Amino acid sequence: MKISVVIPCYNEEAVLPELFRRVTSAGQTWGCDWEAVCVDDGSADRTWELIVRQHQRDSRWLGLSLSRNFGHQSAVSAGLFHAQGDAVVVLDADLQDPPEVLSRFLEKWRAGFQVVYGVRTLRKEGWFKRACYWGFYRLLARVSPTNIPLDSGDFCLMDRRVVEVLRQMPERNRFVRGLRAWAGFRQVGVEYERDARLAGEAKYTLRRLSRLALDGLFSFSTVPLSLVSQAGLWISGLALLGILWTLTTKLFSDYFAQWGFPPVQGFTTIVISVLFLGGIQLLSLGIIGEYLGRVYDEVKRRPPWVIADSAGVEVQTPDL
Ligand code: UDP
Ligand code: MG
Repeated sequence: MKISVVIPCYNEEAVLPELFRRVTSAGQTWGCDWEAVCVDDGSADRTWELIVRQHQRDSRWLGLSLSRNFGHQSAVSAGLFHAQGDAVVVLDADLQDPPEVLSRFLEKWRAGFQVVYGVRTLRKEGWFKRACYWGFYRLLARVSPTNIPLDSGDFCLMDRRVVEVLRQMPERNRFVRGLRAWAGFRQVGVEYERDARLAGEAKYTLRRLSRLALDGLFSFSTVPLSLVSQAGLWISGLALLGILWTLTTKLFSDYFAQWGFPPVQGFTTIVISVLFLGGIQLLSLGIIGEYLGRVYDEVKRRPPWVIADSAGVEVQTPDL
């Protein structure tokens, strides 16, 4: 039995020494062989140098260096693709997900679960970010036919069979926690407290987080598209009533004026309805555009990552 730990690292020189220490000492409690695959996601600092040095010191530590910054999800995917273990763990480099929790993951795996994911009970982050996460996971759960568990991030353990499913998925746009849920098998959540980042700054800015959220929504749900057609239906219905009303009051103006409803005077109504419909149309085009852009990304069939260098890993090209 062998466990692989996949660790995406982007400008993490400040946390790496502590990460090496904590994972190595946690590994002693697992009672089996393990390897750790650090994926350097095009860092500008000494991240890669530290990974290579760690590999020379301890050959259980392996490294992959991407040719530029491809983003967290691609880095995780590259690591998953190259990991050799019978079970593969995904862990953030900044020690927000404590490696000590992994022994509980392993227990569940040995008890017969193929996917064990961490569920965050407590987040040591600002209220705004927490509120956004909270809202996002609930929205996603509502609109996606795939059962994506609430408050579970990428911190997880996957059996080799699940990793093989992910390896064979052809998509470039990889929302790993969604793909993992899609794969199925026996899945279970394990609650843990998410610590604050050990050092350095969060690499996910609010902008990148909202990109990730949109990727998750649009690649796991077509509900926004049906919202567009539903909005169209409702607005057309309302417009029909409006048309009838305007025409009748115009045609029978004498009669209606007597009841206090003079014919509608054009300008305001026209401006309001044109602006309103213009807004709805642009929004709908935007939603369709989000899907179209993603379809475009997929059909170009560019590889989801490019590997520039490796330490102890035999580089393979995904056959997608
Ligand atoms: N990360 C990465 N590429 C990126 C951004 C982040 O590999 O473009 C890694 C980062 O080094 C860390 C993990 O992804 O190990 C999570 O990033 P971060 O801690 O910034 O995100 P947060 O914990 O705020 O979600
Ligand atoms: Mg973090």
